[in-house]
Amino acid sequence: MSALELIDKVGDYHPEADAELIQRAYDFSEKMHRGQRRQSGDPYFIHPVGVANLIADLKLDVPSVCAGLLHDVVEDTLASLDVVQSEFGEEIASLVDGVTKISQVNFTSREEKQAENFRKMILAMARDIRVILIKLADRTDNMRTLGHLKPDRQRYIAQETLDVYAPIAHRLGINWIKNDLEDNALRFMRPEVYYQLKRNVAKKKVEREKYIREFIKVVSRVLADAGIEAEVVGRPKHFYSIYDKMQRYDLLYDQIYDLVGFRVVVDSVADCYAALGLVHANWKPVPGRFKDYIALPKNNMYQSLHTTVIGTTGERVEVQIRTHEMHRVSEFGIAAHWRYKEGKATGKSEAQRFAWLRQLVEWQQNLSDPREFLGSIKEDLFSDEVFVFTPAGDVLNFPEGATVIDFAYRIHSEVGQHCAGARVNGVLVPLGYELSNGDTIEIVTTASQTPSKDWLGMVKTSRAKTRIRAWLKYLERSRSLAVGRDVLERDLRKRGLDLKKLRKRGKLAEVAAAFGLKDDESLIAGVGYGKITTRQVLSRLLPTEDLDGEETEEGMLRRLIRRVTGSEPSVKVSGVDDVMVRFGKCCDPLPGEEIIGFITRGKGVTVHASECPQVLASDPQRQVHVAWESGSGGARRARLEVRCLDKPGMLAAITKSIGGAGVNISSAQVQSTRDEQAINSFEVMVQDAAQLNGVMRSIGKLRGVINVRRARD
Ligand code: MN
Repeated sequence: MSALELIDKVGDYHPEADAELIQRAYDFSEKMHRGQRRQSGDPYFIHPVGVANLIADLKLDVPSVCAGLLHDVVEDTLASLDVVQSEFGEEIASLVDGVTKISQVNFTSREEKQAENFRKMILAMARDIRVILIKLADRTDNMRTLGHLKPDRQRYIAQETLDVYAPIAHRLGINWIKNDLEDNALRFMRPEVYYQLKRNVAKKKVEREKYIREFIKVVSRVLADAGIEAEVVGRPKHFYSIYDKMQRYDLLYDQIYDLVGFRVVVDSVADCYAALGLVHANWKPVPGRFKDYIALPKNNMYQSLHTTVIGTTGERVEVQIRTHEMHRVSEFGIAAHWRYKEGKATGKSEAQRFAWLRQLVEWQQNLSDPREFLGSIKEDLFSDEVFVFTPAGDVLNFPEGATVIDFAYRIHSEVGQHCAGARVNGVLVPLGYELSNGDTIEIVTTASQTPSKDWLGMVKTSRAKTRIRAWLKYLERSRSLAVGRDVLERDLRKRGLDLKKLRKRGKLAEVAAAFGLKDDESLIAGVGYGKITTRQVLSRLLPTEDLDGEETEEGMLRRLIRRVTGSEPSVKVSGVDDVMVRFGKCCDPLPGEEIIGFITRGKGVTVHASECPQVLASDPQRQVHVAWESGSGGARRARLEVRCLDKPGMLAAITKSIGGAGVNISSAQVQSTRDEQAINSFEVMVQDAAQLNGVMRSIGKLRGVINVRRARD
């Protein structure tokens, strides 16, 4: 590529580009690299030009293009950074410096020095994101021309690309670079797989292209008939994603049917939902495959509707629906906000959308050990993690889906132990609140709060899980001991026996041994927990005839509950599971609803909604009165089923209505029915029955909604 071709390419998106500056950088780089050759024997200069070309593909500004041309002169030629600065100015010099520094980092080493370099890179990246964009272009060009290196060197670079650069491209949302890097990495890591895939894909080319054309034709017609202007594209998926799928699901190439993905690009968000409705009306959607990344954008700002439908020959077809703007973001990611724009500086709000990058920088200021930083950054790049702030401004990272309870345990185990809720960005939230990037979390503790069984389902970190389990175990045992001692004492006294004396004389330990238990304390705890009845204990201490007229097990349990809860056999139920209390999974009762408890042997009390069919089927003898405790804790799950007309914008209107009531949706599913209706199923997290009823009422008022019902198994 000549200097003129490059200048023309930049001029296409940036008419006022400083052609003279590009020309000078081109000439300077050419002169400095003159005589240098690549492994292939080609002049080295081909590489910086290739990088500058990729930077122009990203439509970045002139300093970035120049830095692309100059990115290797400081490291690989006699030119110093000072010379670059005096020739091309501060801005370009600092970009070149940034890229040079990253190139010196060996990412696979965990040495402290390398960690420090990695930190510098993140800092450079945060100071000027163009540095990392240039570096990505550099790596992309290198990966395309890796063929002439020795195989072990190829594999090393390919691995580093998969480990570091592809995740960065993904995190920055630059899809085409990520795909390019991954495909080339596969080519050098697993050449046999790569070329086999390539042959397979080529074999069915004609067939596939015909298929693509036809699907596009039908989709376009369906959309056009509805007055939606859309651009429909279909293309084979990139090799690495096919490979990844084969690996992950242990499939052969022939077993992968969705090799082609279709994309529908429309003008507005409303059109996106309308197009989705039309696609679902014409092709049967595969349940559970619909994802709404418009309502809930990914961390890297990606937005789209994803769905999978059954095609005409029974095959699965993936369809992504998005607006032109969303498409631009999905292809260019962060680069979309750094590309040259006429007379417009990068908006502040755009920079704020990359809050995670700022957090990284602020975070590193609080860490003295760079290795710690490296470890955490890697985690962030490789897994989906969230970064949140403590009130003091420290940043902590958590796996995606972690809640305020995980946060509390990270602060201190005592804080976790008494965590009653949290203020997130100043607003009170329940315990089940999932942390999201950039939140500032302040834990609210109360002395009376302690962990419950329900917490185990709410936490993601192993630290929190271990602590909660330990507490539950302790609690169970100490509670069981107290109850067991009480019950045994009384039943023994009725027969003239004394628990304390029996223990002292070792009688109880003998009984315990007969049950295969460690000691008398374990026996007492076993009675308290309901695993062993007093009748069983007595039968070991007394001749059997003396046991006539012994009360039933139910009667014993009923009395046991009376002991635990006071004079009336009434169990106070909080919104959160208790060791002794469980909620029926069949009906998921909510605070405020009428409930009935059932005594379950060895498992305490199970609480059902009074209208639950399980209630009728249960033995009334085991029934026990239960009542909600006021002011009870966390959000509870409820499922809603909304039947509505299958028309554009319905789903958006419903989700908006749920969100408007301050209720979180934990999952959603859409299914079209034959009669041009759709059934939308939502799982929502609500505080109580009143809140759920409010949400159901407001959905019911929406135009097009036929009915709303609470879904129960
Ligand atoms: Mn280079």
